Amino acid sequence: MINSGKISEIVTGILKNDRKTLAQAITLIESTRVDDRKNADKLLSKLLPHTGNSIRIGISGVPGVGKSTFIESFGLRLIESGHRVAVLAIDPSSPKTGGSILGDKTRMEKLSKHKDSFIRPSPTQGKLGGVSRRTRETILLAEASGFDIILIETVGVGQSETTVAMLTDIFLLLISPAGGDDLQGIKKGIVELSDLIIVNKADGDLLQAANRTAVDYANALQFLRNEKDTWQPLVLKCSALKDRGIPSILKAVNNFCKQTQRSGLFQTRRSEQAVAAMWEEISERLNENLRSNNKVKKIINNIQVDLRKGMISPSIAANQILKSFLN
Ligand code: GDP
Repeated sequence: MINSGKISEIVTGILKNDRKTLAQAITLIESTRVDDRKNADKLLSKLLPHTGNSIRIGISGVPGVGKSTFIESFGLRLIESGHRVAVLAIDPSSPKTGGSILGDKTRMEKLSKHKDSFIRPSPTQGKLGGVSRRTRETILLAEASGFDIILIETVGVGQSETTVAMLTDIFLLLISPAGGDDLQGIKKGIVELSDLIIVNKADGDLLQAANRTAVDYANALQFLRNEKDTWQPLVLKCSALKDRGIPSILKAVNNFCKQTQRSGLFQTRRSEQAVAAMWEEISERLNENLRSNNKVKKIINNIQVDLRKGMISPSIAANQILKSFLN
């Protein structure tokens, strides 16, 4: 149990950019205990005036495409140009085992040791909704702690991209060089979310294939985005391993920010995200309340038995439960 003195101590530590305190605070907001949740809310409301001042960058791609290698190289360049970089992860693939991405910090050896970086693996439990809520709050804590670039990594498996896109200002999709025109089975929806598409591994034997892949994607993109969009997604190439092509990506991210801040898209995205986050929070809290409601608890087992036997339909079952909750 944390008292209010402890919360003030955490606030002071975070505002002093102390990384250990930041890690402690993240553990607090990840806790599912009711008293911890209350303290987390108190902490967040105290820190809120110090948040919002970062560029939030989503990075996605299938396992093996080179995300960690890229983040190591990209992150170090950002630090070189004066930024402080926090790396967070959303890993929906293994909520029970604790997530695979970022679990092994040695994959970002130099970055993880740098004093101007902070690397945090995925939260170890919860559904995607809960993970996204905690990631949103972790972003705020990292911002209050002076990190002005937040990188959010996710594995390319579909739903998590939408979640990351809803948490970030700009979305980067990493792809591998590949022959053929099948767009590597990457779902059209994910390409549509992407502001920058980056063909990684543009080196050695893979260089030719990388060039072809970049052209294929540039062609495909022409048909995907709306003409009214104020930002036209770009296709870029890099070799994260050889640290080549990274400055052009930094430049593209800068241009994106300048252009969309001028056009208003940047602010529109953030305000839409805030509204969506509010609805997500409402449905999560309603759900939690409903499941722990005593009247609901009394009837839920019988209703589920009837439902399983096919004696009532899911919609009638839902109606009965909602009725007893709302009465
Ligand atoms: P992740 O699963 O997306 O995080 O991918 P990793 O960063 O762990 O990289 C997967 C493999 O691809 C590793 O063996 C890397 O060394 C290799 N790799 C990453 N980036 C590059 C690159 O730019 N060029 C080449 N040739 N290999 C790379």
